[in-house]
Amino acid sequence: MFKISSPYQEALPGDQSGNLASRLTPGVAWSLAQPTPVLKPKLLAVSAPVAGLLHVDVENVSRSELGDILTGNLIIPASTPYAMAYGGHQFGGWAGQLGDGRAIVLGTHTNASGDRFDLQLKGAGRTPYSRRADGRAVLRSSLREFVCSEAMHHLGVPTTRALSLALTGEGVVRDMFYDGHPATEPGAIVCHVSPSFVRFGHFELPRANGDVPLLRSLVDFTIREYFHEIDAKFTGEEKVAAFLNEVAERTARLMSQWMRVGFVHGVMNTDNMSVLGLTLDYGPYGFVEDFDPRFTPNTTDSEGRRYCFGAQPHVALWNVERLAVALAPLFSSEKPLADAVAAFAKRFDRETVEMLARKFGFDSIRDEADDALVQDAFALMQRAELDFTIFFRALASIDAESPRVEVLAPAAYRDEVFAACRADLEAWLARYASRVVQNQGSALDRRRSMNATNPSVVFRNYLAQEAIDDVMGGSTTKLESLMRALERPYDDGEEQRAIASRRPEWARVRAGCSMLSCSS
Ligand code: AMP
Ligand code: MG
Repeated sequence: MFKISSPYQEALPGDQSGNLASRLTPGVAWSLAQPTPVLKPKLLAVSAPVAGLLHVDVENVSRSELGDILTGNLIIPASTPYAMAYGGHQFGGWAGQLGDGRAIVLGTHTNASGDRFDLQLKGAGRTPYSRRADGRAVLRSSLREFVCSEAMHHLGVPTTRALSLALTGEGVVRDMFYDGHPATEPGAIVCHVSPSFVRFGHFELPRANGDVPLLRSLVDFTIREYFHEIDAKFTGEEKVAAFLNEVAERTARLMSQWMRVGFVHGVMNTDNMSVLGLTLDYGPYGFVEDFDPRFTPNTTDSEGRRYCFGAQPHVALWNVERLAVALAPLFSSEKPLADAVAAFAKRFDRETVEMLARKFGFDSIRDEADDALVQDAFALMQRAELDFTIFFRALASIDAESPRVEVLAPAAYRDEVFAACRADLEAWLARYASRVVQNQGSALDRRRSMNATNPSVVFRNYLAQEAIDDVMGGSTTKLESLMRALERPYDDGEEQRAIASRRPEWARVRAGCSMLSCSS
């Protein structure tokens, strides 16, 4: 079923001891780490699109065998499971060696077309990088990670994927609110799928250890495996510079895509930044609801708001700078570093201008008046407490001949605030209507194109909580209908309508529905 090889292990030095005791592992890019068997695996969900991508016929294996494989109880032939070594900057400070503390890579699966995917079990037990933690993951965070990986893919945002979500049949103790009240929760394991899980932090660690040979091996491996065009076109220092530039551009593009759908990652530490420009490691993330550029779903970040919605592009650039600094020993001048920063800015600006034009249904952003229209919309959305997702869907259906402010009412969280902003919203809508009638295309073109850019549904945290509560009660019905609806986030069908409404009042204050802790 799976065809496993391990280019990462073959190309890079590793710690072969199999010793799972927490420790520093200088000089290696990975450590052998056998998953710790779990008591009673139970598959909750398998993503059919991901199974299709891998060309694995999940119907052809028994559920129990599949459950064993996808929780690490049964090791597939040719797999020599390992944990990756990496470091990272966390909340602005260098955190030293981190590594896969609870994620274990089974190896690289090659599908029938020759495409390669790394398979990673998260929550599969302790590794040398677990430090003082248990190597496990709880159901709530695993379900959130499983569903959102897939939801983001269907939204068209670059992301790692997820094949499965399984219960371990074991309890995991977590102090969810960090208030001295630990409780036992169900343990779970997600099988993540990605061409690679290499992070910015992979390069920062050997750089911090002064291990230039390992740094160079990692760079060579990454370019050879994942950046074929650059590998073929450049040599020497130029090759490394082209790689850095490409990572910068992909990261810039990713930021613009996050802004498009209102995604807030929540923990943009450099160890959570993919060199492939994919969304990676879903923790206390959230989608912006009542619009606020300072929104952060992460309780740990509520003071500093380092990783809030509006700060993400700046933080991403800061992270790219950390990568550039890590690669500095491979350059003879500082020019490639400055070039990467410039490449990020240029790509982000271009992507964002195009993205905003599509969101607002303009054929392009033509001038300062268009710019002002966009900026004023965000300011008004915030003042009127309008839902980011619902606002743009509603805007698509505005009749430019006779714009009516009522069309925006479903986006409003508070009637009295909406009423107080009514005159300003009307004035803005009048400006908007007179602008879109100047478009080249028809009104129908505008609506179609806006509805292909602005999703009708996103994975709101309250929906996650409802699915988690349902699974805790022994049912996967909500999880399944949620997955189906989120496979087509630009549709307006019955399944989408069931999850399209704004966050209900009960969810405003409930833990897990607007704010989340890092505990997982
Ligand atoms: P995160 O913020 O979830 O990306 O995790 C940061 C670091 O902490 C990574 O090195 C993780 O592997 C590690 N980590 C987080 N939770 C656990 C856990 N329960 N057991 C072991 N390591 C963990
Ligand atoms: Mg992480």
